[in-house]
Amino acid sequence: MIELRDLTKRYGGTTAVNRLTLTVRPGHVTGFLGPNGAGKSTTLRLVLGLHRPTSGTVTVDGTPFADRPRGLRHVGALLDAGDVHGGRSALAHLSALARSNGIPRARAEVVLREVGLADVARRRIGAFSLGMRQRLGIAAALLGDPPVLLFDEPFNGLDPEGVRWVRALFRRLAAEGRTVLVSSHLMSEMEQTADHLVVIGRGELIADESLAGFAARV
Ligand code: ADP
Ligand code: ADP
Repeated sequence: MIELRDLTKRYGGTTAVNRLTLTVRPGHVTGFLGPNGAGKSTTLRLVLGLHRPTSGTVTVDGTPFADRPRGLRHVGALLDAGDVHGGRSALAHLSALARSNGIPRARAEVVLREVGLADVARRRIGAFSLGMRQRLGIAAALLGDPPVLLFDEPFNGLDPEGVRWVRALFRRLAAEGRTVLVSSHLMSEMEQTADHLVVIGRGELIADESLAGFAARV
């Protein structure tokens, strides 16, 4: 469960997130919808502990925000799939992440199988397509077997088969009782993905309701 209370983040004169209060419940795929610049990535970074709030609080599974990144065993995230060191192999990348987070190294191979990258585990990430990088980013999010998972624009660069695969994965993670938050700027991507929808614009909450309720209203 993720609880945001009166959460605000300013960068200089820009208010990226403005007094956001919301609860993201386990057992659901919650869509986080808003146009580019709405504050989605900033919110996810606040939940991860990569940014410090200007004011307000973030609580993850009952633990209030501490001013440092949460470990991969608590919150897993796909943030920017392009942002990995291309010279390493997929296996080396995940093994290093596992080591720095106190996760058994064997998990790296387990999650590579889970995302369908077992055959290319020893290939350089630099040679990966965007879709393969997305899968690798998802593998990193799953590495610590965390109860809370954040996915920022996970459909970018995926083909229709990849999109179906990611959707099924999200549903399975939610069915296991995890908290799954998926951001997108496209309502069309959310329609077959989320069962609950949080909508933000200019950093402010616009809607927080079931997908069916939202779809019936707009
Ligand atoms: P979204 O993910 O919905 O596209 P962001 O959270 O990336 O939105 O951005 C929200 C606002 O905060 C935008 O106006 C963006 O320009 C600004 N912003 C985001 N990150 C930074 C940063 N590191 N420094 C300054 N401004 C930022
Ligand atoms: P390092 O590999 O030295 O740990 P990173 O920049 O990869 O450096 O990670 C810094 C911190 O950010 C780590 O402590 C890790 O817990 C967190 N982190 C990195 N990737 C993720 C991710 N996909 N999901 C959640 N947290 C992450």
